[in-house]
Amino acid sequence: MNLIEHFVDGKKFSGESKRTSKVFNPATGEQIFDVKIASSKDVDKAVESAKKAFDSWSNKPPLLRARVMFKFKELIEKNSDELTKLIVSEHGKVYDDAKGSLTRGLEVVEFACGIPQVLKGEFTENVGSNVDSWSIRQPLGVCAGITPFNFPAMVPMWMFPMAIACGNTFVLKPSEKDPSCSMKLAELLTEAGLPSGVFNVVNGDKEAVDALIKNKDVAAISFVGSTPVAKYIYENCAKNEKRVQALGGAKNHCVVMPDCDLDQAVNGLMGAAYGSAGERCMAQSVAVAVGNIGDKLVENLSKKVELLKVGPGMDKKSEMGPLITKEHLKKVKDYIDIGVKEGAKLLVDGRNLKLQGYEKGYYIGGCLFDHVKKDMRIYKEEIFGPVLSVIRVKDFDEALQLVNDHEFGNGVSIFTRDGDTGRTFYNKAKIGMVGINIPIPVPMAFHSFGGWKRSLFGDQHMHGPEGVRFYTKLKTITSRWPSGVRSDPEFIMPTTK
Ligand code: NAD
Repeated sequence: MNLIEHFVDGKKFSGESKRTSKVFNPATGEQIFDVKIASSKDVDKAVESAKKAFDSWSNKPPLLRARVMFKFKELIEKNSDELTKLIVSEHGKVYDDAKGSLTRGLEVVEFACGIPQVLKGEFTENVGSNVDSWSIRQPLGVCAGITPFNFPAMVPMWMFPMAIACGNTFVLKPSEKDPSCSMKLAELLTEAGLPSGVFNVVNGDKEAVDALIKNKDVAAISFVGSTPVAKYIYENCAKNEKRVQALGGAKNHCVVMPDCDLDQAVNGLMGAAYGSAGERCMAQSVAVAVGNIGDKLVENLSKKVELLKVGPGMDKKSEMGPLITKEHLKKVKDYIDIGVKEGAKLLVDGRNLKLQGYEKGYYIGGCLFDHVKKDMRIYKEEIFGPVLSVIRVKDFDEALQLVNDHEFGNGVSIFTRDGDTGRTFYNKAKIGMVGINIPIPVPMAFHSFGGWKRSLFGDQHMHGPEGVRFYTKLKTITSRWPSGVRSDPEFIMPTTK
């Protein structure tokens, strides 16, 4: 079995740990790789290499750092087919969807190419008589990223292009379920001219994560994954005096108003609920049917869910691929059982889907529940599979209350033709990313991505302007160049004269 190692100091690194984990192709259920699971000593080696590279890299003019990003961008484009196939083979999502996610990562690299402009500071001449003051943003040092399985290229690329362009060095700990993309990106960065040690990859699990948290040379950690782990990372980074942003799970609602264009809403919901088999943190797993729209919405959705084409990600006809692992498939099926027991009406049941020739793949068909209630587990908890729950409410106020009462606050959208309803909704929603007639409102690279409530622990969102703030610290300089008579000591608080 081929073995995936780590990438440290510009080359492959075996490390001392003998532990490995299996990587599967979810479309066939076959094991395709073993991946090394780093020990804390292996992690420390990667951090040491990043620490060594920091002085020289952070001293490089931002323009030279941007030029590496330009080359990296070109190399991603040149290798996009290979990268996309890596995503499909280890994650399972369909080819075009995988390619789209790669492009959304590439856009962060494009933003990072403009870093000389973004890093310009602020200057005030004469804050006091003959005194000038200016603020600059300086890199933090060694930054680390810990990423989930569901976007093996895009989520790491929310982090490291920004961190590196800002002058930091980086250690990435990708998901052990689909590590190949990160290794390929490391190779491409080297080919783009990134000096050794600036970007490192350690594969591993909790042991590697804990080693990153405990290592005193790691200045900041960016995390994306489930809420319990996000909370753990946030608390332990704080204990270890690290800067941290920890993005967690989600339960995204789509509010369907009676005045909306129903076809648009239904098509939007189909892609947002079942695209990537629901394994997206911005997937819409709850449709909130307002007023009298419920019956028509459910009728139209049911027909389309029944026709969903499920199959391997490399098959051009597939609209939805398999789930990530056998264990996750069981977890999603268990949630369907729970929903039925809780009394929700299962209108479309995808549990018994069998694909000829792919009997060992981790497939499930689209599932649709109606009459879901807000105290049910299938409503409260993140299922992370192709399961859409329809919940019926009497009016807009009840829909808004429902959205705001949920513990998660990642994304939400509303379908309406009324501007006042749309405006009131975005203004009052306690959610980080809001769509109006847009089913998945993922911000572009030059804005920033992040949720509210238990979908994000920390203060800053990812990439864009917030990414620059996260990966730099502010320094403000005040200076005077006195000439002539020297002043006497002053023992009072200086004020502008
Ligand atoms: P996960 O939390 O299981 O794993 C994420 C990362 O943490 C992985 O690298 C994993 O190795 C590591 N990890 C797992 N258990 C750990 C532990 N006990 N201690 C320390 N580290 C641990 O998440 P996942 O299953 O890979 O990804 C799916 C989750 O990620 C979903 O909840 C999804 O909503 C969330 N997600 C959120 C966003 C967002 O932007 N908010 C984006 C993508 C995914």
